[in-house]
Amino acid sequence: MSRTRLVRPVGGPMSGLAEIPGSKSQTNRALLCAALAAGTSRLSGVLFADDTEAMLEAVVSLGCDLQIDRQTATLEVTGIGGALSFEKLAIDCRSSGTTSRFLLPVLTAGKGNVVIDGSDQLRSRPFSEQIQALRNLGGTLNELGGPNGLPIEIVADGLEGGTIQISAAESSQFVSGLMLAAPLFEGGLLIELTDTPVSRPYLDLTIEVMKRFGIAITKEGDSVYRIPQGQYRSADMMIEPDASASSYFFAAAAITQGNIRVDGLSRDSWQGDIQFVDVLEALGAQVTWGADWIEVQGDRLSGGTFDLKDFSDTAQTLAAVAAFAESSIEINGIGFIRAKETDRIRAIVTELRKCGVEATELPDGLLIKPNQWRLTGASIDTYDDHRMAMSMALLGLRVPRIEIRDSGCVSKTFPDFFSVLEGLRPTAALGTDAVAVAAIDGPAGSGKSTVARALAVELDLPHFDTGAMYRAVAVAASRQGLDFSDTQAITEVAKTADISIGDKIVVDGIDATEEIRSAKANQLVSMVAANREVRRILVPRQRQWASDLGGGVMEGRDIGTQVFPDAMLKVFLTADLQIRAERRFRETKGQTFDDVLEDLERRDHVDSTRDDSPLEVAPGAVIFDTSNMAIEDVVKELAEMFRSRMEG
Ligand code: C5P
Repeated sequence: MSRTRLVRPVGGPMSGLAEIPGSKSQTNRALLCAALAAGTSRLSGVLFADDTEAMLEAVVSLGCDLQIDRQTATLEVTGIGGALSFEKLAIDCRSSGTTSRFLLPVLTAGKGNVVIDGSDQLRSRPFSEQIQALRNLGGTLNELGGPNGLPIEIVADGLEGGTIQISAAESSQFVSGLMLAAPLFEGGLLIELTDTPVSRPYLDLTIEVMKRFGIAITKEGDSVYRIPQGQYRSADMMIEPDASASSYFFAAAAITQGNIRVDGLSRDSWQGDIQFVDVLEALGAQVTWGADWIEVQGDRLSGGTFDLKDFSDTAQTLAAVAAFAESSIEINGIGFIRAKETDRIRAIVTELRKCGVEATELPDGLLIKPNQWRLTGASIDTYDDHRMAMSMALLGLRVPRIEIRDSGCVSKTFPDFFSVLEGLRPTAALGTDAVAVAAIDGPAGSGKSTVARALAVELDLPHFDTGAMYRAVAVAASRQGLDFSDTQAITEVAKTADISIGDKIVVDGIDATEEIRSAKANQLVSMVAANREVRRILVPRQRQWASDLGGGVMEGRDIGTQVFPDAMLKVFLTADLQIRAERRFRETKGQTFDDVLEDLERRDHVDSTRDDSPLEVAPGAVIFDTSNMAIEDVVKELAEMFRSRMEG
């Protein structure tokens, strides 16, 4: 098995052009059509990955001539262009669903003897619907292992077409395969779908590709397809970038507040999975649809309920995005993905839960509730499913210590996935508005103050505790004996008090370092902080402070959301409630542990539900669970993140 890969958090907006390899679905369809065609076809933008290598090998073993140029992603295919005959052939479809389900009917329509097989994973995937359909048409198929699965021996002697009824509720690939093979059947084929198909856009894609290669399918209503007998003709075809593969990059932009563009995709794409972009837009991302490109700009992400029946390959991507959304996301219409590379619903729920996400399986999908405070690193199992690796890697962009086991499984459809992802890692040069500020926030007991101070020392940057500024105003107002409900009077104090925040806190010329931490100040500061006018006065001062000093480590409630949304590094420190309580308990005197715990719970609630600048994870912030970590290690990791952002 391939290596475990640690995904390092990006700590800033991922931006740029993502170079996405060609569509797997188009490559495998075009390759097969070109192989069956008379003449030479030229395919560009071809995907070279496990699934398409399986199809490549297969068409070569069927006698087709290929000129392959992997550098330029082009292929010249000289097709068979007539009767398909073979002798004692063995075809290994590896783990490719499309290769196996496209070839099964095509080979049954040929003449000769062939055994189709694949990996253990492919052997456990469903085939019965297609086997049955081919038997009904008179094909001879012998399962050599268990019933209804690979390996299958085909004793082929041509096929007469006619009419078949078939369900595409489990996989649309059964129908696509029959469509692709039907021109080879005597008299063509009439396909009647017995129910609503899943992934319908893939059927449309099959029709479009076949049209390119000279076969016109007629659609009668929503559920009948008439495919004429005929000869495929060679064609030149440019393959679009893979829309499912693009989903990870659009998602990366959405969750890191970045801006990522993919060229070669548009509203006119043949691939159903571009609908994933509409989901991101519905969640709050900004999408620009170009004539020949799509760009996604991240923003706050809300929730919603989404039916992904037509573009289920992006369900895991959406589930990963949901971990960073501000309300619940329910994904439904995808019960059938339990029979993909793995039970994808179970797998994604299991792995998200390892990372602290509140995810629940539903019979037909999954539900993810927002709880960003609980996100934590974990070692992710990938179930030999490329989409598990690629979607869970998204969590690692914002959560330290996410490691992807057997990360090489991405080679099924996207061998260079991790290097493309790394190529979009933000740098200081790219983030034009970025200031050299590390913005640190988090709930009480998360280690915010200690970490911020130590990080400032480590980075040799000034430290600024913005909470101390609100506390200083409280002290100034309290010294004057003001009524704290008189918001105007307090605002006036914020304007006029002479406050200096440094190693010592000085208010109107008098040292207030201890005073601002007094029980009285603790009590009064929340009223000061809730005063919008006071915030309007203090926030620009905080910005000024950082720009005067050329940056710094700033801690406080709204640093990442209001004061420096473009900070070089935004961090939300968090820790398990129990652990935070233990930390607080060690620091306080005269309170029982239960009191501390209760206090903390109450404070979490008040802090996160208050109207103005509530405690929340800033969009795009790194969410860092410090529960089982020593302060030095947290600081070391943060310093490394900051430096790598600065150095680019
Ligand atoms: O972090 P500390 O407890 O010192 O903050 C004091 C108070 O000021 C808290 O109620 C906190 O929510 C508030 N605060 C704020 N905005 C900041 C920093 C602190 O509202 N930037």
